[in-house]
Amino acid sequence: MDLRLLLPRLMPRAIAWAEALAAEVASEGHALDASGLSDAMAVGVRKAEDIRVLMVDRLPLPPDYELREAALHAGLLGPTMTGLTLGHSILICHGHLCRRLLSHECRHVFQYEQAGSIAAFLPRYLQSIVEVGYWHSPFEQDARNHELA
Ligand SMILES: [Zn+2]
Repeated sequence: MDLRLLLPRLMPRAIAWAEALAAEVASEGHALDASGLSDAMAVGVRKAEDIRVLMVDRLPLPPDYELREAALHAGLLGPTMTGLTLGHSILICHGHLCRRLLSHECRHVFQYEQAGSIAAFLPRYLQSIVEVGYWHSPFEQDARNHELA
C-alpha cells in the first residue's frame, strides 16, 4: 500500500470523515475545566473555551474500507493510539486521560488554529505522516515538545 499515491484520492473522504466526527464531539463532548483551560492556553491555543473532549472506549475508525485501511497502515487510529484531535474536538480513550496526553492534543488544536480549519490542516498533517512517519512528523514532534507533565 503506497500511501503517498493514495493520499490525494483519499483526502476529500478523510476531511469529510474528520469534519463529521469533529461535529459529533463538539455536540457531545465536555468543555475543559479551569486547569485544562489554563494548560490549553499555555500550549498556545487561542480559543481554549471552544475545545470539547469526548471520552471513548476506542478511537472510531472510518466506515469507508479504503480510508480505514490507509489510516491503520499509516499507524493512525490503531489500538495503541489513545488520543485524536480534529479541530477543537478531542477524543480520548477511557483510562488514558492525563495532563500529558491532554496537553499534547491541545497542541494539535493549536496547529489546527494556525492552519485555520480541518480542511486546511489535515492534508498537511497526513502528508507529513506518509512522508516521514508518525513519530518523525514535525506536527507530532511539536506536540510532544509541548506536553505538560
Ligand atoms: Zn499527536
